[in-house]
Parts: sequence; structure tokens; C-alpha cells
Amino acid sequence: MKKIIVTGGSGFIGSNLVNFLIKKNYFVINIDKLTYSSNNQVHKNKSKKKYKFFKVDIINKRKLIYIIKKYKPVAIFNLAAETHVDRSIDKPYDFISSNILGVFNILESLRFFKKLNQNIKLVHVSTDEVYGDITKNNRSDEDFSYKPSSPYSASKASADHLIKSYIRTYKINAVISNCCNNYGPYQYPEKLIPKMISNIFNNKKLPIYSKGKNSREWIHVLDHCRALLMLYLKGKSGQSYNVGSGMNLRNIDLVKKLIKICKMKRISIKDKTKIVFVKDRPGHDFRYALNSNKIFKKLKWRSKTTLKKGLKNTFDWYLNNKNYYTSLKKRDIRKRLGSIK
Ligand code: NAD
Repeated sequence: MKKIIVTGGSGFIGSNLVNFLIKKNYFVINIDKLTYSSNNQVHKNKSKKKYKFFKVDIINKRKLIYIIKKYKPVAIFNLAAETHVDRSIDKPYDFISSNILGVFNILESLRFFKKLNQNIKLVHVSTDEVYGDITKNNRSDEDFSYKPSSPYSASKASADHLIKSYIRTYKINAVISNCCNNYGPYQYPEKLIPKMISNIFNNKKLPIYSKGKNSREWIHVLDHCRALLMLYLKGKSGQSYNVGSGMNLRNIDLVKKLIKICKMKRISIKDKTKIVFVKDRPGHDFRYALNSNKIFKKLKWRSKTTLKKGLKNTFDWYLNNKNYYTSLKKRDIRKRLGSIK
């Protein structure tokens, strides 16, 4: 059984990826610091024959090297990061630490193992936000210049640059995924979709920044997981790949779709639950949109889940896992009205 390290495997995309890789018959070693947005409950019944967990911060290089030495993985999928843009505006330090210094430590570990002739492949998960605001009718391809707008996207952009420099200088084996907004099960309810669904269930207002016209491209998390495995198997070292669905939607339209699903399911929407527009956040990019032709053509990957089906399934998942969310929310939900990625 091949072994893969997933960092951040207790977060939203990470926990879906761990489940996905185990189904594909990999042994997964999850390294996670367990920040507020993690949900380790999801892995509590996993077999020891397929899964091992380490509560470790990726800025701890000594422990990283110990784990890599012990398990000799074929790849590291790096998803460990601070991810909430609003939090990065309030408190950027954690973003610099995990998203830049953490990546630096992973790169240094890979450099160390390369000298020992262990050529472990890094699949690094980055974001469409590194390209900054994309004008109407345009889509950013992999050659677009980086123009990050928030401390979050700047930290992700820095990590991408660092990785590219290690590929060029030390010839480490690495690929980067620049993915659009993900949705699906296990997302911490400060992000747009789970936040709106949870507010609908709890008879709360539905806060949207500005007039809700900001546009995002949406992909189901399992489509992203399929792309990440494809990048490990076939992605050319040294390359980055945009991973998008091509499906853009304004935030207001997305929230209206969720309300429509609710009505279709005859879930009663209480009086308080209505859309309210809140003051925009500073530096808020208006539109992200990827040109993902490279991964379509070179790796024959495409997203499979339609937004209609994916949103409905996601809504059902949150409906069936209300208890799980209540316990997460008790742990830490910031008391700000607008909080949209
Ligand atoms: P998340 O916040 O749900 O999960 C992040 C996980 O990383 C958490 O379990 C947390 O405990 C862990 N973590 C944070 N800092 C760590 C550290 N220093 N050491 C070890 N573990 C640490 O985030 P997510 O939405 O699952 O995002 C995962 C990755 O995907 C991130 O790199 C993010 O930038 C990227 N990404 C996310 C999206 C999206 O829409 N969610 C889109 C594109 C890219």
C-alpha cells in the first residue's frame, strides 16, 4: 500500500481528501495542528491499517522529518493553512506562519530527503485568489501575473513563488493546484455556503457583503480531490494547474439558490431569515474566474458535479449533520455578520 502524507487532513478539503485517498487504497498519514476550523471527529473510526494521525504544526521541521523518515511516503499533499480571508485582515500573523513558513519547512524537508535519494512528490494546494481581481469576460490562466489583495492570498502567492524557486534551484518534485472556491461536506460554517445554510436552520439573517454582486467560481470538493490525485499521478513536476469548474455565480444568486432548495424541500424559512447587505470588507476582490484548459487538455481531468446536484447534496449533508455543526459552532464562531470567502 503506497503511503501519502496529507497535511491539514482534518480541515474541510483535507478531510474529504483523506477519505478519498483511503478509498483509492492509499495509506494516509494526516498531519494537522487542529486549529478552530478542523474537525477530527470525521476520522475517529478509521482503521489503523489505513490511517495514522499526528497532531503536529507544519512549522515544526524536526517532527516533519521524523514522520517522513518513519513512513517513507510517495507524496505529500499540503493543505495545512489558515484559510479565512476576514481573519487574515484582522490577524495576519498566523497566515504568514502556517502558509509561508510552514511551506518553507516542507520544502526544506523535501530538499533534505532529495539528498538521500528519496524523491517525494509535493502536491501543493493553492488558490485562484493569487491572481487577484479578474475583469469581466476574462479568465486567468497559469501564466497570469499574481496580484493578491489580502494577507491570505498574499501568503498563498508567496508559498507558490517559494515552491517554484525550490523546483528551479533544488529540482524538487512538486506541482501546484490553483483551485477555485470549493463546497461540500465538512466545511467550517464561517464560509459562505455552510454559513448561509446554518443561518437558515437557526432563523438568522443572511448577511452578504456589499450588494452581493461579487462573482466566484464553484467546484465540488470531490472534483478537487480527483484533480489532486491526478496531479500526483500525472502532473508534470514544476508546473501549476488551474482547477476550475468554469461555473461562476454572483454571491447573491448563490444564496437565492440555497433558499430555493429550502423551499423545494418544504423547510420553513422563518421571518428573521432574510438577505441583508453588510458593509464590504477592505480589498474585496470582485471576481475570480479560472481558465482551466491546461488540466482539461493535458491531464484529461474535468469537474463532474453540476452545481445544481452538488448544492442539493451539500444542503442535504448539512441538514443531516446538524448536531455535528452545533458542536463546532460552540467551539468558535466569530461574531461578525459578514464572512464570505
Ligand atoms: P480549512 O481551514 O478547512 O482547513 C485547514 C486545515 O489546516 C485545518 O484542519 C487546520 O487545523 C490545519 N492547519 C492550519 N495551520 C496548520 C499548521 N501550521 N500545521 C498543521 N495544520 C494546520 O481549509 P480548507 O478550506 O480545507 O483549505 C485547505 C487548503 O486549500 C488551503 O491551503 C486553502 O488555501 C486551499 N484552498 C481552499 C479553497 C476553498 O474554497 N476552501 C479553495 C482553493 C484553495
